Amino acid sequence: MPSPVGHTIAGLAVALISQKRKNRRYIFPIILCVFFATVPDFDFIPGLLMNRPALFHGDLTHSIGFAFVISAVAAVSLRLKGLSILSTFTLGFTSYLTHLLLDLFNPDGRPPYGIPLLWPISETYYLSPWTMFTGVQHASSTSTTTLDFLRQVITFHNIKAIGVEILLVTPISILIIWLRHKYASKAGKIRSEGVWKENRAKMQ
Ligand SMILES: [Zn+2]
Repeated sequence: MPSPVGHTIAGLAVALISQKRKNRRYIFPIILCVFFATVPDFDFIPGLLMNRPALFHGDLTHSIGFAFVISAVAAVSLRLKGLSILSTFTLGFTSYLTHLLLDLFNPDGRPPYGIPLLWPISETYYLSPWTMFTGVQHASSTSTTTLDFLRQVITFHNIKAIGVEILLVTPISILIIWLRHKYASKAGKIRSEGVWKENRAKMQ
């Protein structure tokens, strides 16, 4: 799996892509998107409480079905300032999908390899044959204890893996944000030129 750093950058990118330049209400979308981009890995928590951190990791929380349900529940129950139910759902769901996408392109050293992406439609675990990241190592098996988990997390390999994530995810995110705002301002310009011509025609 990529680390929370890679997932946080992807969540931030979703928040910034969704914002219009004139409407800079970033704080709620940023909190929402970063939360949803990282929340699938909260599946470590029940395992941590049982001294087996990886026991539930990479299971149903890593599926489109779960992403849909949790985004819908959040959209209906949260009332975020300046965000409609549909916007909250779209931001949450998209951010959640970035997590699944990054995990798909990550090496997985522990069976079942990959994530149950299409659950509940299919229970197959999917993993891209082509990996983008070097992968954060954390637990060699679901029976790994919390102490061994921590020993396996704090390594030079994982520091390098986080560096690779930053180097890969940041430029891709910046490029998508730039393209989004470039085409949004172009579309706005064409629209305002159209309105100006329409008004001019009415005056003549
Ligand atoms: Zn994950």
